Amino acid sequence: MRDPVIGIDLGTTNSAVASVEEGRPRIIPSRSGGRLTPSVVGLTPKLSERVVGTKAQELAKEHPDCVVWATKRFIGRRFTPELVQQAKAVVPYQLAGGNTGDVRVKMAGRTVPVTQVSAMILGELKLDAEAFFGRGVSKCVITVPANFDDSQRQATREAATIAGLDTLRLINEPTAAALAYGLSRGFQGHALVFDLGGGTFDVTVLEITDGVYEVKATGGDPALGGEDFDLKIVEWLLAQVDDNHRELVHRDVVSMHKLKVAAEQAKRELTEYEETLISLDGLGDHTQPARKLTGLETALTRHFFEQLCEPLSKRCIAVCESVMKEAGMDPHSVDTVLLVGGMTRVPLIRRLVTDFFGKAPSTDVNPDEAVALGAAIHADELARQSGAALLLDVVGNSLGVGVMGGRVKHLIPRNSSVPVVAKDVFHPGRHGQTEARIPIYQGESELQDENRKLGEVVLRNLQGASRADTPLEVTFELSNEGTLSVRATDLKTGLSEAVKLEARPHLPGQEAERLVKEQAVYAQKQAQADAKKTEETFRKLLERGEKLAKLLQRTAEESPSDEADSAMINVRSLLATGYSALEARDAEQCAQVARQLTQLLSGRRD
Ligand code: AMP
Repeated sequence: MRDPVIGIDLGTTNSAVASVEEGRPRIIPSRSGGRLTPSVVGLTPKLSERVVGTKAQELAKEHPDCVVWATKRFIGRRFTPELVQQAKAVVPYQLAGGNTGDVRVKMAGRTVPVTQVSAMILGELKLDAEAFFGRGVSKCVITVPANFDDSQRQATREAATIAGLDTLRLINEPTAAALAYGLSRGFQGHALVFDLGGGTFDVTVLEITDGVYEVKATGGDPALGGEDFDLKIVEWLLAQVDDNHRELVHRDVVSMHKLKVAAEQAKRELTEYEETLISLDGLGDHTQPARKLTGLETALTRHFFEQLCEPLSKRCIAVCESVMKEAGMDPHSVDTVLLVGGMTRVPLIRRLVTDFFGKAPSTDVNPDEAVALGAAIHADELARQSGAALLLDVVGNSLGVGVMGGRVKHLIPRNSSVPVVAKDVFHPGRHGQTEARIPIYQGESELQDENRKLGEVVLRNLQGASRADTPLEVTFELSNEGTLSVRATDLKTGLSEAVKLEARPHLPGQEAERLVKEQAVYAQKQAQADAKKTEETFRKLLERGEKLAKLLQRTAEESPSDEADSAMINVRSLLATGYSALEARDAEQCAQVARQLTQLLSGRRD
């Protein structure tokens, strides 16, 4: 049997893992039962034991300083004063700089590289997949935002390596969404991916031709998401607290948390209903037990919620307008609109999209799961080496050569499709020069100082007497995987030199090795603990299977039919396989029977 491969959506708010079984992509449930894993990581205060997902969210209630979240905002970035300022506006935890200028976060009195935080989330998803399949899983496809640069992509790969995962490929989130919505089956045209999550908003136009996905334009608002909609409700609730308590509630962490939870709940209810009731008590100053607390009861209509969120709707539209402008397109010429992110369930957002693009968006895939499902589809295509696995992505940042006057001549402009080859001819700076150093830059500015220097190619033994007599051809070749090869050739002598540039690692080698080992030890311990729990759960599942078998037998006796007989035989043989797998301690077989039984018991046909 082929090794399982998985697709991972490593999200800012939530992450998910999926795989393709019998030709269909499916979300792999987490070991705690959910379909999504909150991208939250914590360390317990005394023992510094790691907790991930819902357990970390629980820890945050008692020990907010032991937990970090939304660290995807910082992965692969340089630690700078500007970044620290940006972080202050969105998260309460502190950032620190590592030896290589990488970003670290402070939790439970420790300083942890952001790459490691991602590795912890990926490691958890890997364990979920292993519990699901009953065997080791290492190969994966991971999704990243379309605007991630080389450094952010490289850091994501590093995180995967620490987690013991082999990244077959990183693909853009909108591309994955398009795969999940089935656009690989003959769709030709422009697809717009509207991705509104918990904390970020991204809009991407993909041009899809013969199974090739090209990002035409991408944009977004990194500080706009579901939480901002929640906050509008919180502000409104706060305004209704009685005058004697309002300021106290505003300053009280526990009360503000209560308001936020209630606001998010109300927002979800307004997706289903026209009106919801919000009822809260225990609001006030929790640091002063003697002080009297107050309560609040109020109704919120969908209509009023939409009015409250008017400024946020405008920001969504502004992003769509700017992306349409970058793509040089009229909104009505988009062929299909795909929704991604939990917030796109909100009727206001759906209406906004329908009005702006002049067509109703596709809603037949769960917006929380689309990206992970698409990643799984691509992972499966790669594993099967099917021709469908061609995905054309684009360069996130322009690449060029440093020229005279401190300027940069771009050879590969941003948004070019990869793989790509580009060449140009340059001349040395001075007459009679015998050596030329050709610096390579990444970035959008015309000025070298405002770009990132990736490296240089050095050509020696130049023979030309004058500048004009020394033509130097520089060729850039960017692979599908983002590796840039640069060759410089002295066209007069034919001598050439080449360099291969891969994004720099973010963690020093020794530290990365240590983290890999640490993760492996943790994973082994967890897997042992999981095995016990899995066995218990499997026994319970078999008991439920027995009940189902009895029920089917009764049905077959009461109203005999070939169909009833075969349903019963099917369950009986599955149970028999399950018992012998349990006896033989065959974890993989147990996991397979568990999946089939769960499906039978749930009555789902997918
Ligand atoms: P994501 O980052 O894609 O998981 O998005 C999570 C965001 O979607 C959060 O702000 C949630 O409150 C919001 N969300 C999820 N489901 C719903 C729903 N049924 N109605 C309204 N908002 C939702």
